[in-house]
Amino acid sequence: MHHMTLAEIARGLADKKFSSEELTKALLARIAQLDPQLNSFISLTEELALGQAKAADARRANGESGALLGAPIAHKDLFCTQGIRTSCGSKMLDNFKAPYDATVVAKLAAAGTVTLGKTNMDEFAMGSANESSHYGAVKNPWNLEHVPGGSSGGSAAAVAARLLPAATATDTGGSIRQPAAFTNLTGLKPTYGRVSRWGMIAYASSLDQGGPLARTAEDCAILLQGMAGFDPNDSTSIDEPVPDYSASLNGSLQGLRIGVPKEYFSAGLDPRIAELVHNSVKELEKLGAVIKEISLPNMQHAIPAYYVIAPAEASSNLSRFDGVRFGYRCENPENLVDLYKRSRGEGFGAEVQRRIMVGAYALSAGYYDAYYLKAQKIRRLVKNDFMAAFNEVDIILGPTTPNPAWKLGAKNSDPVAEYLEDVYTITANLAGLPGLSMPAGFVDGLPVGVQLLAPYFQEGRLLNVAHQYQLNTDWHTRTPTGF
Ligand code: GLN
Repeated sequence: MHHMTLAEIARGLADKKFSSEELTKALLARIAQLDPQLNSFISLTEELALGQAKAADARRANGESGALLGAPIAHKDLFCTQGIRTSCGSKMLDNFKAPYDATVVAKLAAAGTVTLGKTNMDEFAMGSANESSHYGAVKNPWNLEHVPGGSSGGSAAAVAARLLPAATATDTGGSIRQPAAFTNLTGLKPTYGRVSRWGMIAYASSLDQGGPLARTAEDCAILLQGMAGFDPNDSTSIDEPVPDYSASLNGSLQGLRIGVPKEYFSAGLDPRIAELVHNSVKELEKLGAVIKEISLPNMQHAIPAYYVIAPAEASSNLSRFDGVRFGYRCENPENLVDLYKRSRGEGFGAEVQRRIMVGAYALSAGYYDAYYLKAQKIRRLVKNDFMAAFNEVDIILGPTTPNPAWKLGAKNSDPVAEYLEDVYTITANLAGLPGLSMPAGFVDGLPVGVQLLAPYFQEGRLLNVAHQYQLNTDWHTRTPTGF
């Protein structure tokens, strides 16, 4: 049962081959058996899951249908879930039970999904390896000595290990696409404003976006359908109609103009990944796409700009964790300042504290113009590059990551080395564009992803290209040994 995709589950449930309750029990048993190796869950919600599964079965018995009705999923542990711990991977929120559901959680629950649990993540979504979680590192099911990518590493490892068919995730600088690449999944970061951020604990508000992690583009379409849409509770949510994503999958790629930026193939890229990217280009050419070399001249400035803007916003967002209203509070504070200092010093891990310091510095009087303002100007240049490129091409294609998943601990002493791994993903967040990573081969037994970027609100185009690619390749069907 655990090999089924969301699409296959929907068909099986509609044909009464099994019930959601049976499927839910089977997956919960599989999680109990296999997750200790991976550490992909922070909390399991068996009782909630069984209740939701029974309710979904009853709705189907009453004649209701729907691709997500009775489908088991999990939520990254930064989506607020009412009455259930929502930790954000942090000691700061270890004791926090959210008083309400995030819009994404509520929408998916209304569509009939079954929540198996809350997945592990880098603390406050800061990281690319899922090693900064208060609940311990997540392991990559393709090689347990390697990282699964981050910050949505728990969602990725669980879906890749067939513990469940799909999960929610978020992407501030690559946290959906990069773990997708590292674990052989398909992951989609939607256009900024497409998926509500209400109840999604903020890291960097102008960059954060929720999206689906699944094994196929077809499943990403199904899950995105349940997540996307205007939300008056999120002031940056955009009131655009949500197209039928599953209907977009089957378009022909004849004449599709694919741009391949020359800057992507610089010295930092593993040549074996470059070769797999070229293979995927050839595959898409066979399907009728036309390839064009393009240029994104400001790409080299994106990492420094992102690592000013994201920490700046984080330092502001995280000021609410002060030990007063909710979250961790230190023992026996001597006075108010001591309460703030020790609650934050003890509640936040090292990477979060580093980002708060960098962000507060960049925003401080005297440095604001030199760092934050300059970074915002670079952000505009990065966006302009994309706008110029999309005058010439329909899709931009390249590697998702410069290297495959590294060994656990390999970059712990050098945070900047880890930041550099985000080089291909962060530009989409700076520009607010949608991006997708899909499986495209293996290097040393570790999965490699290819990234597709599209103009605003063209998620359907990304899913179309990835689906057609997946109909003609079988990388996405490969399963890690032991799972
Ligand atoms: N690795 C990036 C960072 O640490 C992106 C993380 C994310 O997308 N949440 O900021």
